[in-house]
Amino acid sequence: MKIAICPGSFDPVTLGHLDIIERAADIFDEVIVLVASNKSKKTLFSTEERMELIKRCVKSSNVKVDCHSGLLVDYAKDKKADAIVKGLRAVSDFDYEFQQALINKSLYPEAETVFLTAKGENMFLSSSMVKEVCSLGGDISSFVPKEILNDIIKRCKGEN
Ligand code: ADP
Repeated sequence: MKIAICPGSFDPVTLGHLDIIERAADIFDEVIVLVASNKSKKTLFSTEERMELIKRCVKSSNVKVDCHSGLLVDYAKDKKADAIVKGLRAVSDFDYEFQQALINKSLYPEAETVFLTAKGENMFLSSSMVKEVCSLGGDISSFVPKEILNDIIKRCKGEN
């Protein structure tokens, strides 16, 4: 059984994340979407909320959602994960992701970092862009799953 981890902040999950998660679920037997719960980092949604939003949108039955506050490789070791799956957008992602992949490989050689290329329409999509556009009143419906659109709009307006 091949296990992959898709790590990230997912604050909130976007159609770009979801595309990577579902494609990973087609390749691996089990995919764990791992929400980073870093207490010192200010997020729009709490860890539990981010996990719930992801669960509401994911269609594949072999995807689980979990959270972790420590080193990714420690979690990967614990789960005996085979791969860490990351989405690659523009070249700007590359330096950082390459560095992370090398560090993770040296800390835990059993897991391979696998990069999936972002879909063309998601190349410039990020959670921070969604939050900025939404808080300024822009239409984010083509960037986020419809199941969670209203939750994001309400939170950006400060209504919940
Ligand atoms: P963000 O950069 O939007 O804050 P995260 O830190 O939650 O995202 O990223 C988690 C993973 O999802 C990373 O591997 C990142 O490259 C990938 N990812 C983020 N946005 C997209 C996108 N639009 N298309 C493909 N992959 C993406």
